[in-house]
Amino acid sequence: MAWWSYSDSQDSKDDLQREIARRKKKGEAFVPVEAPKGSKLAVKFWGQSWQHHLESYADYESRLPRGRSYLRKGNVYNLSIDKGVVTAQVAGQSLYDVSIKISPMKPALWQNIQKQCAGQIGSLLDLLGGKVGDGVLRVITDREQGLFPAPKEIKTICTCPDWADLCKHAAAVLYAIGLKFDAEPELFFKLRGVNYEELVSQAADAVAQGPAGGDAVIIANEDISSMFGIDMGDALSPEAEATLKSVVPKVRKAAKKSARKRPAG
Ligand SMILES: [Zn+2]
Repeated sequence: MAWWSYSDSQDSKDDLQREIARRKKKGEAFVPVEAPKGSKLAVKFWGQSWQHHLESYADYESRLPRGRSYLRKGNVYNLSIDKGVVTAQVAGQSLYDVSIKISPMKPALWQNIQKQCAGQIGSLLDLLGGKVGDGVLRVITDREQGLFPAPKEIKTICTCPDWADLCKHAAAVLYAIGLKFDAEPELFFKLRGVNYEELVSQAADAVAQGPAGGDAVIIANEDISSMFGIDMGDALSPEAEATLKSVVPKVRKAAKKSARKRPAG
């Protein structure tokens, strides 16, 4: 081990802390992405599906593990997810800016998914909570025709000097995205540039039409969170809750209408 190794890394750590302090002083926020202590990262449906999907590609296999440890050390800050783009800052030898661009979902593909899921997703809460049947699961997780982007649709940019396609900083951000989806699953759809209500309104339409022998979705209880065992305060963002409030009555109304139409007995 060369004599300068230690002091080099110590210097860069000091530089890093100085850089963070300098930016904080300028009023920049540094909000770390908190990673859970256990062996798993994402634990809920959308976060886990995102993670499993990425891990299933050989392109990423060698680079993803280092991203995990970076995330666990609390090195990812200021994660922001928007339509087609994710940005974050990652502390490594220095402070790097990472942006990940994801191609928007092709309208024909999205329409096809809607068609295949029509009438099968009971509620928005089912969708966001990942409570979907096997048929829907197969549709949304299909590698070619599903909701998740393939590596060729994912472009990572990092300000670090690593020339690899996927540096460890970008890999850490890819994992951080999964954690964010655990907390706010609606962000997955925002990232893909699609309106998740369209998957459920198709279901509401199907209910309103009263398919023969189909089970109408009747949400009888105001207390939706207890119904699904989900703490909405924790699980959903204010935006998603507002959406739920607007959509649930529609589904209920459609279900009631359908129930009235059906012959007694
Ligand atoms: Zn990098």
